[in-house]
Amino acid sequence: MERFNNKVVVITGAGSGMGASSAQRFAQEGAKVVLVGRTQAKLDATLARLAPGDHLAVQADVAQREAVHQLAEKVLQHYGQVDVLVNNAGIHAQGKAHEASDETWKKVMSVDLDGVFYCIRAFMPALLKSRGNIINISSVSGLGGDWGMSIYNAAKGAITNFTRSLAMDYGADGVRVNAICPGFTFTDMTKDMKQNQAVLEKFYDRIPLGRAGEPEDVAAAIAFLASDDARYITGVNLPVDGGITAANGQPHL
Ligand code: NAP
Repeated sequence: MERFNNKVVVITGAGSGMGASSAQRFAQEGAKVVLVGRTQAKLDATLARLAPGDHLAVQADVAQREAVHQLAEKVLQHYGQVDVLVNNAGIHAQGKAHEASDETWKKVMSVDLDGVFYCIRAFMPALLKSRGNIINISSVSGLGGDWGMSIYNAAKGAITNFTRSLAMDYGADGVRVNAICPGFTFTDMTKDMKQNQAVLEKFYDRIPLGRAGEPEDVAAAIAFLASDDARYITGVNLPVDGGITAANGQPHL
């Protein structure tokens, strides 16, 4: 399947996890992929695993407005077009709100929220030209609350609603905007949890499909929403969560 031949796909946070896996998926399907992240070595490692193509690795911090501006200039200079933007870069924080520092709040908001805004603003002119689309990586944590993650919930909840409004504002211009809401997925972000059998069992008890997500599960859904197969879909926040958000919250007896 080569749904992305001649398409340029920009993926933030592409040095690991879902971003790296999506890069592989898009490249397999014919795309020219732009890998964005803060750590060059991680981007290079992802680049080395991609199916051959005119790909680019660009070191940039999405939380820095000027860096994102330069990233967009560089990408447009190289390809002259952008067809898909995947806003995947993200960090999380744990703990109760009243114990959190200003620094923690600002750090999460600057990557998870400012970063998405800066990238959308910088790439929208190109997406309007190509009648392209945007995939934001929100979370099941953007659909409901978690214990001990309220700052992350605030940021991802904002992405969920940002996605809906953007879909409304740009639909008439032919630009679709959707979000993926992954559940618990094995990546660098969750590597400590993967080592903790008690935590894993608690998750497995709540996930109808009985396992954690793999980055490839999320990449497949991202590629679907970004492709013409999803041409009449915009403004959705699609859970890719093994069914965890199907529950109404009552205990698993
Ligand atoms: P991950 O492996 O840690 O990937 C996140 C990537 O973002 C890293 O490669 C990181 O690389 C990059 N990044 C972080 N801050 C950045 C910045 N300021 N500028 C550019 N790149 C930055 O974790 P992941 O699970 O794949 O996370 C991908 C997305 O999924 C995130 O938005 C996360 O919130 C979301 N998510 C994850 C889960 C889960 O269970 N894993 C569930 C729901 C949603 P550098 O540090 O090198 O820049």
